[in-house]
Amino acid sequence: MKEINCQLLVIGSGPGGYVCAIRAGQLGVDTIIADAAPAGGTCLNVGCIPSKALIHAAQEFHNLLAIAQGESPLGITAAPPSIDLSGTVDWKDSIVKRLNQGVGSLLKKSGVTVLPGEARFVDGKTVVVRAGGQEQKVHADNVVIATGSEPVALSALPFGGRVVSSTGALALREVPGRLVVVGAGYIGLELGTAYAMLGSRVTVVEASQQILPQYDAALVQPVMNRLKTLGITVMLDTTALGMNDSGTGLRVQVSDGAPQEVLADCVLVAVGRRPNTESWGREELVLDMNGPFVQVDGQCKTNMRGIYAIGDVTGEPMLAHRAMAQGEMVAELVAGQKRNWGSRVIPAVCFTDPEIVSVGLSEKQAAEQSIQTVSGQFSFRANGRAMTTARNDGFVRVVARADNQLVLGIHAVGVGISELSSAFSLALEMGARLDDIADTIAAHPTRSEGLAEAAMHALGRALHQ
Ligand code: FAD
Ligand code: NAD
Repeated sequence: MKEINCQLLVIGSGPGGYVCAIRAGQLGVDTIIADAAPAGGTCLNVGCIPSKALIHAAQEFHNLLAIAQGESPLGITAAPPSIDLSGTVDWKDSIVKRLNQGVGSLLKKSGVTVLPGEARFVDGKTVVVRAGGQEQKVHADNVVIATGSEPVALSALPFGGRVVSSTGALALREVPGRLVVVGAGYIGLELGTAYAMLGSRVTVVEASQQILPQYDAALVQPVMNRLKTLGITVMLDTTALGMNDSGTGLRVQVSDGAPQEVLADCVLVAVGRRPNTESWGREELVLDMNGPFVQVDGQCKTNMRGIYAIGDVTGEPMLAHRAMAQGEMVAELVAGQKRNWGSRVIPAVCFTDPEIVSVGLSEKQAAEQSIQTVSGQFSFRANGRAMTTARNDGFVRVVARADNQLVLGIHAVGVGISELSSAFSLALEMGARLDDIADTIAAHPTRSEGLAEAAMHALGRALHQ
């Protein structure tokens, strides 16, 4: 067996792992990254990027269809469009391939050695990487576990055939006539909405009393309204119990107390993701765990010296940008720099229609910490730019401390609002107060005027409402 030494071994080349390796390489750390899958992990191959490509194609198709059906107020007419989902999937795959290659080039440029293969700890400083019957033993001063997460399966609806996870839903070559989505979280609603726009008759089955239960009710209401407009049936407080294949279609059994059946051609199960903690020889280590996740401190250190963990394997929120930021921090720590996670703001964006952005605390979360707040809100109904795009649903809300007006949270729902998420995060990272935001001149006409208007509203001096 070939043996090699390095200062840093990164296990997993998702957004956490590859960013960590690139930064370490840039800082002159002798770095190896191991992964059996193409570079980019869940996010790039079967997550963030392909899902947004599908959502974009679906929105384009739906807009053309609305125009063709005379539903557009813009005075435009067009012939009914058609969709070749296979072509869409090929386009999406070409983007993924380009990004795989891009990550590969960045790793190479930073002097990182890429070891294709599955990694397994032998002990805290030794890892064996296996690929195609070949094995390499890596002795590393530091190891970063960045093994990500995988979809949770339901025993009543195991994956296989026409029961798919998000990965399967992103690779369908035909638009299913009837799609049942189990779980109205991020994946269920992003992909369920996309398929409804592509022409599927979609039913969403959600165990909680609200779609996107992690967001407050006011934020999800515009999304709920839009699901209705798109003809999506939402069954709340309902769980999926099982399924029969009748030959002509799937009969999905659900219950909200009373059992019912929903017919489907395809079932997407999107009930959460769980950390990958089993494939890499955890049993050879003595790692402290935090429930199902690897426990880390504010520097992503585990309880074992020289072993770090980053990204989805370390807990919520399971988001690519959190994994990347952790990866960058760990690389700098390994290179001897002083870094700490501190109170970094992690924006959450749901790419539904309209999109939702949430940064920092909600009023309810602040109240749970006994913080008194003031808040201001601005509806896009009064925003000129929103009107010119024929979609003025949604709003921006700013939450601040009542005593010193320090901004604690910014939450918004609206078309294209994801692009404002970095402005929201920046305001919180910079310790903005309400008047900092209210007195920042926003370009007109843009949706970003809504942020200043919401702050003005909180200060009792709203202009446009
Ligand atoms: P991952 O990206 O999961 O990468 C882990 C890597 O480790 C994989 O490549 C795997 O092959 C490798 N690995 C595992 N075990 C081993 C082993 N033993 N040896 C070697 N390699 C191993 N997040 C967002 O922020 N925005 C979004 O819009 C978004 N959309 C999403 C859409 C979908 C459909 C899905 C499924 C997820 C989405 N996410 C999104 C979540 C995002 O993909 C994850 O948070 C992110 O990929 C986590 O990065 P990671 O580096 O921790 O792990
Ligand atoms: P999720 O946690 O967002 O939503 C799962 C939903 O399924 C919840 O609403 C839950 O109440 C419901 N549920 C659970 N068990 C159920 C059952 N038996 N029957 C009916 N409903 C049930 O999980 P997800 O949508 O699978 O996404 C996984 C993770 O991936 C997310 O938490 C997020 O971290 C990440 N992600 C992020 C984005 C983004 O940032 N835009 C997009 C997609 C995925």
